[in-house]
Amino acid sequence: MPTPCDVLIVGGGIAGSSLATALARDGSNVVVLEASRSFEDRVRGESMLPWGVLEAREVEVEQTLLDAGARMTPQWVHYDAFVPTEVARANPIPTGMMLPGIGGSMNLRHPEACSALIDAAARAGTCVVRGVTDVVVTAGTKPDHDGEVTFGVATRFGSRPSPGSTASTDVLIAALPVSSSSMTIEVLGGM
Ligand SMILES: Cc1cc2nc3c(=O)[nH]c(=O)nc-3n(C[C@H](O)[C@H](O)[C@H](O)COP(=O)(O)OP(=O)(O)OC[C@H]3O[C@@H](n4cnc5c(N)ncnc54)[C@H](O)[C@@H]3O)c2cc1C
Repeated sequence: MPTPCDVLIVGGGIAGSSLATALARDGSNVVVLEASRSFEDRVRGESMLPWGVLEAREVEVEQTLLDAGARMTPQWVHYDAFVPTEVARANPIPTGMMLPGIGGSMNLRHPEACSALIDAAARAGTCVVRGVTDVVVTAGTKPDHDGEVTFGVATRFGSRPSPGSTASTDVLIAALPVSSSSMTIEVLGGM
């Protein structure tokens, strides 16, 4: 693991890996710490709406998702318990007309999207560490005159400390679900 690194991202899902790819391509020294060793199907994130597709295009990961098998759909039929099926089918939502140049929503299984994106981040030069749990973040004594803060990040695999599992970084990004509880932030010194 390169340490210190420019940016350390905790969470290598769609957001964390996309950001890591963009930053690494721009020349930043990036580390991603991801809890899972392989992405499980958690039944989420199967469909990316047009504005998400636009953002994927802007950070240049759209093709990565298409190469992984993503399909574009130019309209949505919104089935609902309160809307008769024939009414829903007669009134599709035209997702392909919402944004100029974006053909609709993009559909790909969440584990496959995450896998493709974290692999792209690694190819772009990001150091990806899988199986990370219990991340502890300790801020430095105080921000320096540029407003930067150095963090120490200790990772443990299960209950055993892992060799070389400490890194420092100027920028720490938590790309985590709100429910994630295995990250502790400890502030030391005169912040
Ligand atoms: C049932 C359901 C359906 C959804 N359907 C859609 C949909 O169709 N379209 C849509 O756009 N969004 C949908 N969402 C929201 C969707 O989950 C997010 O859009 C998307 O997954 C967000 O990506 P993310 O990278 O922010 O978070 P996640 O995909 O949750 O990625 C976070 C990553 O952080 C890792 N992690 C967690 N804790 C730690 C830790 N302590 N240390 C290291 N790594 C950690 C996880 O393993 C995970 O890989 C759905 C959500 C749910 C719950």
